[in-house]
Amino acid sequence: MDHLDKLEAKSVHILREAYAAFGNLCMLWSIGKDSTVLLWLARKAFYGHVPFPLVHVDTHYKIPEMIEYRDRLAKEYGLYMIYGENKEALEAGETFPEGKVSHMECCKRLKTEALTHTLNGTWPRYRLNLQTGEYEQDTDTAAYTGVIVGARSDEEGSRSKERYFSPRDKYNDWNLDDQPPEFWNQFKTDFAPGTHVRIHPLLDWTELNIWEYIERENIPTVSLYYNQGDGTRYRSLGCAPCTKPIKSESRNPREIIEELKTGALSNIAERSGREQDKEDGGLETLRRNGYM
Ligand code: SF4
Repeated sequence: MDHLDKLEAKSVHILREAYAAFGNLCMLWSIGKDSTVLLWLARKAFYGHVPFPLVHVDTHYKIPEMIEYRDRLAKEYGLYMIYGENKEALEAGETFPEGKVSHMECCKRLKTEALTHTLNGTWPRYRLNLQTGEYEQDTDTAAYTGVIVGARSDEEGSRSKERYFSPRDKYNDWNLDDQPPEFWNQFKTDFAPGTHVRIHPLLDWTELNIWEYIERENIPTVSLYYNQGDGTRYRSLGCAPCTKPIKSESRNPREIIEELKTGALSNIAERSGREQDKEDGGLETLRRNGYM
């Protein structure tokens, strides 16, 4: 087995362990490269069929190509595709792009609150009808007790503090000082009622591993990751008003792998183009309070 085979095998093991342990499981899909690799691994783990819903928190500020890609792949793979949103904040225009709140407050409302209420089923969930291609309100409103997330330790500091099976309380809050030990491949999967657990099968993968795997498996990805001729590309995808591309000539996964191996990006944070990470407290504050 090479290093990608080993990473794949461990992630598949964690996905199957999660499916066996949690009655109402879902997987978050941000449309980015990491969660798309996770989706690919889930299809491998369950022989082509993904046996739980894919959940996307839609801020309605995502780059349009991301949403087209989401729906195209969801139809092609026959996914149980769900999106959730903070309708009230969007209708009131209480967002950063509308100039009414800060980045942090906007992320809290459009991402954290929308995620919390989508996971616990207290706000409407919209499910893709694979026949019509339209979204309809989902009749299943049961809370998800296990949530699979494509976080990687090397992506950003707060993510390096995660466990493979990481408990959150009923408010979705994360207590970093009280996390279960994980020795070898022994995972704690029984938690007190009301806990929801985030499962992180990609913790050991690096940005380079992700691109190597995308190349090896020929995984479809959003073209925004590649230089289209203007000498820029997105290294990390997010909301259009808050995400900036980096200077890069890489036009495909092979060229990104070569670029990463040169070390040209090693002193630039992967999420440096994401504005919300730069406010006071940054991503760790958001993540302690339930952000993905
Ligand atoms: S990334 Fe920007 S637009 Fe998106 S939720 Fe955060 S502040 Fe709002």
